[in-house]
Amino acid sequence: MRVRAPGAKAVEGKWLGRDVEFFRSADRDVWIALAGVDVEAAVGPSELHITAHGETRDTDLSRRIEIRAAHYRTGALTVAPKFVQPSPEALAQIKAEVKIKEEVFASSQEKPLWRGSFHAPVASAPTDSFGTRRMFNGKLASIHKGADFRAASGTPVHASNSGVVVLARPLYYEGNCVIVDHGMGLFTLSMHFSRIDVHEGQHVKAGDRLGLSGATGRVTGPHLHWAVRWQGAYLDPVKLLRLDLNTAR
Ligand SMILES: [Zn+2]
Repeated sequence: MRVRAPGAKAVEGKWLGRDVEFFRSADRDVWIALAGVDVEAAVGPSELHITAHGETRDTDLSRRIEIRAAHYRTGALTVAPKFVQPSPEALAQIKAEVKIKEEVFASSQEKPLWRGSFHAPVASAPTDSFGTRRMFNGKLASIHKGADFRAASGTPVHASNSGVVVLARPLYYEGNCVIVDHGMGLFTLSMHFSRIDVHEGQHVKAGDRLGLSGATGRVTGPHLHWAVRWQGAYLDPVKLLRLDLNTAR
């Protein structure tokens, strides 16, 4: 979102129950926020509330935004049974990992850490799989909340933009997983690595190698699963890659 608000001291937004956090761009009159619609958001009109706070008065820049239906496909996959009916020990591990991820997502840097447009994590094109309704082994229904990239095991996976590594460890479903905080509630997640090359707390720049792709976790074969999360919403990664942010900051 790009808002022109000459003389504003701050710009605040609220949309679909989430805070839209604006920062000032290089053009001092223009404020920018990255925001998106969750894959499971309801179709229909939504109110985007934006207020520009000026020296002497506030300006209401709110508008109505129509959320339209996307056309997601359905698919059936077969994975190892332990990913559809985990053992009691695995369930305990999964539960512990849910807590770890909650803690990771609970905080984010207050400033945008990214600079310029986001870059694809691997050279191959993503398959059009975001939002696909999937059935695992004919039993477990789930929504695919990222994009899959074709990647033979051992393909270097790069940071899409600058940020801080907030998780770099093996997880039950995600396999070897790396999560990068890009600030203001925006995270990118890379999964199923054969090898992780970064550590938690490490600062990365666009193009830095995060690890090598693989087939760890709940997969049918080697590939890179790449997801974009903004304030708890899972966004279409391909749409983020298409955004021209080179003049944003
Ligand atoms: Zn995937």
